[in-house]
Amino acid sequence: MIPILTYHQIAQAPPKGTPFRSLCVAPERFAAHMRWLKRLGWQGMSMSDLRPYLQGERSGRVFGITFDDGYLNNLQHAMPVLKDLGFTATCYLVHDALGHTNQWDQALGIAQVPLMNDAQVLDWVRAGMEVGSHTLTHAHLGQLDPDQAWREIDQSKRLLEQRLGVAVEHFCYPYGEWQPEHVLMAQRAGYLSATTTVRGRVAAQDSPWCLPRVPVHRSTRLIQLIWKMMSSHEDGRGRHALMTSA
Ligand SMILES: [Zn+2]
Repeated sequence: MIPILTYHQIAQAPPKGTPFRSLCVAPERFAAHMRWLKRLGWQGMSMSDLRPYLQGERSGRVFGITFDDGYLNNLQHAMPVLKDLGFTATCYLVHDALGHTNQWDQALGIAQVPLMNDAQVLDWVRAGMEVGSHTLTHAHLGQLDPDQAWREIDQSKRLLEQRLGVAVEHFCYPYGEWQPEHVLMAQRAGYLSATTTVRGRVAAQDSPWCLPRVPVHRSTRLIQLIWKMMSSHEDGRGRHALMTSA
């Protein structure tokens, strides 16, 4: 069983009462968690680096590190820590929103913060990190007709690759919304993996295009994080369910 951690923002949380402030993990907490995991013998990896482990070709004390949405604060606060520890990570980008803000969250009252622009994404890549796709527009795939959903999944890969000059081989379903046809689309578009918000660690029999993850929140303490990574506590929580979260 291999845990893939889900992060959003690495930043100080906005004031109490702000919607979804739990999705901000403080920079010092993130750094402390990563340093402890390294000390305990864990190696944090991007989806590409994790792939041989997911496929059962290699074994070790490894975990995936993923960031959803492409926040600039991932580059500012997470990248230096990861680089220092020799960890890698995958950041899932929203193509049409590069250099803008998390506009899709606006209606929910979530604070608008900057997303990486092209040059900043390339700084992320040059530091040894990876980028994946999170669609063109942070789409609600479940609400789109098949042609539109295909465009969001397939075109985002092509356009990100052209624009950034790097391979984009991993996908993440926005809002954790996916249906069986989207899993097939991610496969057909040529992605090597796709991650969901279904909670749990990856089991040998899991489809590479429908991977569960372990969420990390503002208030997640080190001991809880280790517990989530090492125990079966998270496994199966919400499995087979269509999950909705930011
Ligand atoms: Zn997202």
